[in-house]
Amino acid sequence: MDRDSFSQSLFGPPGTLWIHSMLTVIIVMTMLLSIRLLLSRRKIGYFSMVVALGITLAQYMQLIGRAWAPEAGDVQTFIELTLKVLAFVMINIGIFQLYNPTRKRDSAVMILFFLLTAAACSTYWLAPYWLESSGVQTKLLRPLGLELYLFLLLFVSFLLINPRIGQNGKYQAMLTVYFITHTLHMANLYIFDNRQPFLNLLEQIVPFVFHIILFLFIFERIIEIMQAIYTSSITDGLTKLYNRKYFHGRLTQAIQQRLPVSVIFSDIDNFKKLNDTKGHHMGDQVLKQVAQIVKEETEDTGICGRYGGEEMVVMIIDASTAPDELAERIRARVESETIVTVSMGHSKLKKGIGPDELVKQADEAMYKAKTTGKNKVVGWS
Ligand code: GH3
Ligand code: MG
Ligand code: MG
Repeated sequence: MDRDSFSQSLFGPPGTLWIHSMLTVIIVMTMLLSIRLLLSRRKIGYFSMVVALGITLAQYMQLIGRAWAPEAGDVQTFIELTLKVLAFVMINIGIFQLYNPTRKRDSAVMILFFLLTAAACSTYWLAPYWLESSGVQTKLLRPLGLELYLFLLLFVSFLLINPRIGQNGKYQAMLTVYFITHTLHMANLYIFDNRQPFLNLLEQIVPFVFHIILFLFIFERIIEIMQAIYTSSITDGLTKLYNRKYFHGRLTQAIQQRLPVSVIFSDIDNFKKLNDTKGHHMGDQVLKQVAQIVKEETEDTGICGRYGGEEMVVMIIDASTAPDELAERIRARVESETIVTVSMGHSKLKKGIGPDELVKQADEAMYKAKTTGKNKVVGWS
């Protein structure tokens, strides 16, 4: 390949086609990801993202066509700019919605920005009337309203969206890259009259980085959502302890692995009375307090779960931890730190015993604690 054909393939229409086609592949992949998510979970954020990427795709299709006809007409330039601005607005709305439920106030802000966008678009058509200058200047100046509006959008996104989402590093990188692309574009257009091939090339390559980060952003968000779904499927919503099913599974596993397992069973004393006298909400708060104490005390030695209403269970795997001492620590802390007390029973695994039997023994020991005065720890015998 000689030098001319090389530079032609890099800077000319084939180069543009090549770069934009690769970009299109990334956008289509991001879009497929969003569509897949939209089909499985009808979340508005995925919908906005699909729309945003659809607009972005149209924008790049238009740019590919533009490579062969650089002298665009007024309408074509307008469509190109509008697509660019709309894509940016929608991507940011989508990102916001992936992290936040859309409340009335947020919808109002979004509508406001669509109106502002419409106003910015109208400057394109009003500019010729305002500018009573030569034709060349008008052609150059009429897109300025929309171009500057993009800078405002970047600033607003940083101010309004960045503090209310996760993955801030990625989001800030995305805005920075967009800012660089747009600044390059403005410099190229208004200072060099689009005649700097190197700037043209950069203007086409930098958006790549933007779309790769956007893809990673959505991908990471999916993983975050999956993890949250998994966590909520194995924990109890109120106390954040493991639920009964998960606890039972882990206990079964530990017994199969012949680990030195012990189980502690705890039940809050006179809880019904507390609910009746101080209300259900207060009951819930106390339940959370007790769960927190149980969690803190068992963090290093085993796992704990909510077995029923106000019954909590602990599985100890660490042979060096005595279940009676651990149970006593929990009991004493609940007595001194909350307005309730707990009765507890514990049992150690012996040969030939299954998970259900082991929990039953600890429960029976707890029952003995209930019938012999409550607020105490009893071992199974
Ligand atoms: P005892 O000392 O014999 O255990 O008396 P008790 O009143 O605690 O009796 P029991 O353990 O049978 O009562 C459980 C009560 O716990 C029944 C129900 O009102 C209450 N409860 C169960 N789950 C919840 C919950 O999620 N929140 C609240 N506030 N109360 C709950
Ligand atoms: Mg109770
Ligand atoms: Mg109970």
